[in-house]
Amino acid sequence: MAVTPMMQQYLDAKQACGDALLLFRMGDFYELFHDDARTASRVLGLTLTTRDKGENPVPMAGFPYHQLEGYLAKLIGGGLRAAVCEQVEDPRQAKGLVKREVTRVVTPGTLTDDALLDPRESNYLAAMVLPDTLQPHTPVGLAWADLSTGRFQAAVFPFARLGDELARLQPSECLLGDDQPPPTCPFPPRMMITRRPEWTFARDTSQAVLQKQLQVASLEGFGFDESDMLAIRAAGGILEYLRETQKTSLDHIDRLLPYRSGESLEIDEATRRSLEITRTFRSGAREGSLLSVIDQTITPPGSRLLADWVGAPLTNLAAIGARQDAVELLRNSATVRRQIREELAGVYDLERLIARVTTLRASPRDLAFVGRTLARLPQLKALVAHLRAPLLDDLQTRLDESPALRDLLAAALEDDCPLLARDGNFIRQGFHGELDRLREMAHGGKAWIARYQADQIEKTGIPNLKVAFNKVFGYYIEITNAQKEKTPPEYIRKQTVASAERYITPELKEYEEKVLTADERSKELEYQLFVELRDKTHQFARALRMTAAAIAELDVLAALAQLADRPDYCRPVMTEDQVVEIVEGRHPVLDAILPRGTFVPNDTTLGTDGGLVMLITGPNMAGKSTYIRQVAVLSLLAHVGSFLPASRATIGICDRIFARVGASDELSRGQSTFMVEMTETARILNSATARSLVILDEIGRGTSTYDGISLAWAIVEHLHDQIGCRTLFATHYHELTDLAGSLAGVRNLSVAVREWQDQVVLLHKIVPGAADKSYGIHCARLAGVPRSVNERAKQILAKLEGENLDTEGRPKLIARTKKSRKGDLQLTLFAPEEHPLLEQLRQLDLAGLTPLQAMQWLANWQQEI
Ligand code: ADP
Repeated sequence: MAVTPMMQQYLDAKQACGDALLLFRMGDFYELFHDDARTASRVLGLTLTTRDKGENPVPMAGFPYHQLEGYLAKLIGGGLRAAVCEQVEDPRQAKGLVKREVTRVVTPGTLTDDALLDPRESNYLAAMVLPDTLQPHTPVGLAWADLSTGRFQAAVFPFARLGDELARLQPSECLLGDDQPPPTCPFPPRMMITRRPEWTFARDTSQAVLQKQLQVASLEGFGFDESDMLAIRAAGGILEYLRETQKTSLDHIDRLLPYRSGESLEIDEATRRSLEITRTFRSGAREGSLLSVIDQTITPPGSRLLADWVGAPLTNLAAIGARQDAVELLRNSATVRRQIREELAGVYDLERLIARVTTLRASPRDLAFVGRTLARLPQLKALVAHLRAPLLDDLQTRLDESPALRDLLAAALEDDCPLLARDGNFIRQGFHGELDRLREMAHGGKAWIARYQADQIEKTGIPNLKVAFNKVFGYYIEITNAQKEKTPPEYIRKQTVASAERYITPELKEYEEKVLTADERSKELEYQLFVELRDKTHQFARALRMTAAAIAELDVLAALAQLADRPDYCRPVMTEDQVVEIVEGRHPVLDAILPRGTFVPNDTTLGTDGGLVMLITGPNMAGKSTYIRQVAVLSLLAHVGSFLPASRATIGICDRIFARVGASDELSRGQSTFMVEMTETARILNSATARSLVILDEIGRGTSTYDGISLAWAIVEHLHDQIGCRTLFATHYHELTDLAGSLAGVRNLSVAVREWQDQVVLLHKIVPGAADKSYGIHCARLAGVPRSVNERAKQILAKLEGENLDTEGRPKLIARTKKSRKGDLQLTLFAPEEHPLLEQLRQLDLAGLTPLQAMQWLANWQQEI
């Protein structure tokens, strides 16, 4: 089938861009054709039309060019990729078909435009390299890059950690080799998987492409060696993808940093969810998460850095101490802190601005923002210089004022700059002599036209004579038919329209030439000057990135100080000991949500001689889960370097924090609650160490009472005997409280409850000792279960308690354990079932047996055992 040359051009471009939707620039529109048009009409709500009507109509949909960013955002949000094919020559100068090229491919993981990004969140593109068979300990390579900031990291992890690292990074896109089956680990819900040719992850290609980009002869300088090869291959795959899709300079990616997991507190994916660190459990929103309530940062890069810090807290005592020192100093220097934060309010997102400069996507406004940010630095530096703390000293030296660039940008750019360089009018008057001259001429020329029109009206006596402009004739004089008679003879007629005649004069044409070219030439010159400014800024990229990082750090430290300055926040004492001691601790999120002063503070003592394992019992809704989460969250925050909502705290460094809370919400993931709970518990039992902190909530409730209690019991024993880690275990199985009698490090805690006129008042206060009743029926009443049902439940309870039977009619476990108090509790609880032979033996009628028959029985039994 014959296609038009333009359609051929389209088809060629389409073929080269794989499964990305092709946005094909045609004049003032971007058009999509064929299946792309159908998809776009569905996802973007565009009207589907046809082109080349007739025998082979081509489905088509499109939108005006200035709406590109909005539509790109929708496409990306809809999980699609888009390739933008631009007209790369001026249609006026094109001979024949305008040349077009795909200038960029936009995918979720490669966004750089502010409009498409959440300013407070990093946007990672990840890549993984996986060996063929995957066991939990198999090493896998993972690399991640944020094109919008230039951050680029890679590491080798055991496969079992892959899901946790993805949960930490929340990449929006992940590259995977063509032949790789998708790994069986949890993925962030929004992550798009992009298949890539295997060769892009090959050892030699990857090394070569990285060395070229980073301008090094070997990656050893960055701290990588042969054992990191999987990470290097993943990083190489990322770079190759970026080069292919971006088609522009990637100069801001100038470092590949190894990520050493031992340097940060390990927090697995389920723990992140349970503790609602960056998102809430139910809605997955940032609002209501730990991060959202502690985030006092002023700048978007600060907010992103804080998320990084909270995502990967430190485990090094000295490093945490350094942060605490800086936070404390900033907390105590309220005035300087306020001034610093005022300055920070005036800086822009330097990290992302630089990325746009180096990828040649910066606008005049972006450059102006770089300039304005630099202008804040002297003041910011001076303020930080007031404060003497090693971290702040170091940070201060990294704030590079780049005065040459600052002065240049300030002199060159207007206060209010446009987003499109071609629009012009953003270079300051006085910056460039030639530009000023051209502008004056363009402007003066227009004024001249106005004056000329006035002169002609007067001369001809035609009041409605008009000097106007169109693209074909340029400037002309228009005289309506009614006034035609008065036309002076020297006017040269050019065109007749329905109601008027159009003329030109030599004078008019002469001025037109000057005006038009002056305007065009001034815009052209302005664009050139813009490119020069952008290149100049580009040359400062390294210094600007260092500065950007220092600003973000300053923002985070000042934000933590702002938090620390709240009433009842304290600096935790950090130690290497296996302890957690908190006096009057509060859960930061609930404390912020509940009306002021209503959150009940609680103490915690883990370790030293206060016991290592706490069993917390108490009625539902009493605050058990809040309490154990509070301990985990405060421990985590302490490792970040933050102050804590408590009057005093001592936190021993942890290597890992594990939290399992609220597994019932997992049902939507398609696994049974119990399986999820046990898989996660298995992970803890297999990977916790004596330096870990473990909090478990209602483990075992997804199965029958007996199974549940037995499992919970054995889990506590294992944590206590085998691992010996700091543990908080909330349960409604009162039977477990007996463990405190047999295991030296186990203590009982409960939530205080006051009974008042047949009502239960939950005090949310954690007190030593076990709870004595479950109060479930009282709570049901509180929750609004009808009084009649409640009364009936009480009767049944009384009966069951009287009979010592559980609801399934079996003897109550508690009765059995109590009876055998003297003996070994574990034996009672886990006594093996009776062997069937015993029953046969019992039944045997010895009197009626011959010796031979007896021998026969013995032989049978011997075979059976
Ligand atoms: P449990 O785990 O015992 O069922 P939760 O920890 O889920 O109970 O707490 C239930 C509710 O009690 C919380 O949503 C909160 O409103 C309230 N609560 C818990 N702890 C406290 C506290 N220390 N102070 C005030 N209210 C609390």
